[in-house]
Amino acid sequence: MIYLDNAATTKTAPEVVDAMLPYFTQNYGNPSSIYGLGAASKKAITDARKIIADKLGAKQEEIYFTAGGSESDNWALKAAAEAYASKGHHIITTKIEHHAILHTCEYLEKRGFEITYLDVDADGLVHPEDLEAAIRPDTILVSVMFANNEIGTIEPIKELAAITKAHGALFHTDAVQAFGQVPIDVNELKIDMLSASGHKLNGPKGTGFLYIRTGIKIRSFVHGGAQERSRRAGTENVPGIVGLGAAADRAFRIMDDKIAKETKLRNYLIERIENEIPYCKLNGHRTRRLPNNVNFSFRFVEGESILIMLDMKGVCASSGSACTSGSLDPSHVLLAIGMKHEEAHGSLRLTLSEENTKEELDFVVDNLKAIIERLRSMSPLYEDFVKHNKESV
Ligand SMILES: *Cc1c(COP(=O)(O)O)cnc(C)c1O
Repeated sequence: MIYLDNAATTKTAPEVVDAMLPYFTQNYGNPSSIYGLGAASKKAITDARKIIADKLGAKQEEIYFTAGGSESDNWALKAAAEAYASKGHHIITTKIEHHAILHTCEYLEKRGFEITYLDVDADGLVHPEDLEAAIRPDTILVSVMFANNEIGTIEPIKELAAITKAHGALFHTDAVQAFGQVPIDVNELKIDMLSASGHKLNGPKGTGFLYIRTGIKIRSFVHGGAQERSRRAGTENVPGIVGLGAAADRAFRIMDDKIAKETKLRNYLIERIENEIPYCKLNGHRTRRLPNNVNFSFRFVEGESILIMLDMKGVCASSGSACTSGSLDPSHVLLAIGMKHEEAHGSLRLTLSEENTKEELDFVVDNLKAIIERLRSMSPLYEDFVKHNKESV
């Protein structure tokens, strides 16, 4: 099997599993208990919190553990909207956010908030001038993702946060695809809230955190016990939190090597596809992109068909078109970068890890070439296109 879907989820690193295991059967105490067994769990949580805070340049008490990226996004938006509603009802986000943000915004719209969805350019970049033009005195929150999960484009977070702060609004970023992949300093970038998820950085699924800058009056998300400074009640997922801390530790330890290795593999993959498969287009910004992201559109073929045929060769990949709830709507991200509906259906996302090899990528490209040729040979659209081209020559 060749796994090229690391934007969907990653393998839990063996050292992460090793770190977690004792917290199931040995150190299973409740962190809120006062005896020694509970204290061991409490210390493990504190250690994980410290690791994560250090990586972001944050304070320990600014890290709140959650059950993943979706929860962190929901919390940030809903609680900030509620807490700052007396100041205004306007929120700004973008057209290319993850559904955890977009569907939360739709929920808030139904509850009387007004949402502006910023456009992006053909590379998927948000333009700071557009934010400047959209921001108003009643804007309470701006949420822009750090890096896009489909096309890998890395947004100009520093500029966007600076504009937001200058207008007195809060700046949130969904950094689920970026945390652990690229360096992030919340103070240098002036980020007020940041969402991250464990399973996107070789940690366990169902774990994550929300960074909330000190002084922000965000409401509690889960009511109950006093866990997470009374803002997110419930007995802590101790093994999960330990795993998240271990994953963050590992990600930052290997980051430079991982970035170098993935960038090289990514560029090699892009080059081979561009040179060897006709009528393809790289989606996302060529250089301002995640080191592990490759996203291509191939004219005259369906992304889903490519995936099925790659799967038969043992290759795990993803298509831009999210077939959520059985619908075959093309990806909102590809539409936002200006692709037509029919083009947006023919896209393929390959997201690497540092464990992939050049040989694996060669195998994938060789098969992809054959697959696309075969699919095109069955496509009436392609047949028409070729006929037309010949006539016009
Ligand atoms: C995966 C992802 C999420 C959701 O994270 P979960 O931990 O799976 O809930 C949110 N935003 C982005 C950009 C993602 O890639």
